[in-house]
Amino acid sequence: MAYVIIDTCTKDMACVDACPVDCIHPKQDEPDIDSVPQLYINPEECIDCGACIPVCPSNSIFILEELPPDKAHFAEINANYFRK
Ligand code: SF4
Ligand code: SF4
Repeated sequence: MAYVIIDTCTKDMACVDACPVDCIHPKQDEPDIDSVPQLYINPEECIDCGACIPVCPSNSIFILEELPPDKAHFAEINANYFRK
């Protein structure tokens, strides 16, 4: 299981600072930060701690099992970002 970010993300970086294992990317100093529409959580590294959820001002982070049905495909979108 992992946490998943959906397309309402505003890239404000609040979750990046809250994550204890640094699994949310791209970060501000990574080259593709301007070209991506949102941030993504690496499902291989996320430890399911939940620290990112309360700091997200746009409520864009979900536990995999609690993704709204119309946002279910974002689990794959998050994982795919780390496969390239
Ligand atoms: S649940 Fe924890 S480990 Fe996973 S992305 Fe959020 S803050 Fe990082
Ligand atoms: S805190 Fe929420 S809106 Fe901000 S970068 Fe993270 S997921 Fe996106």
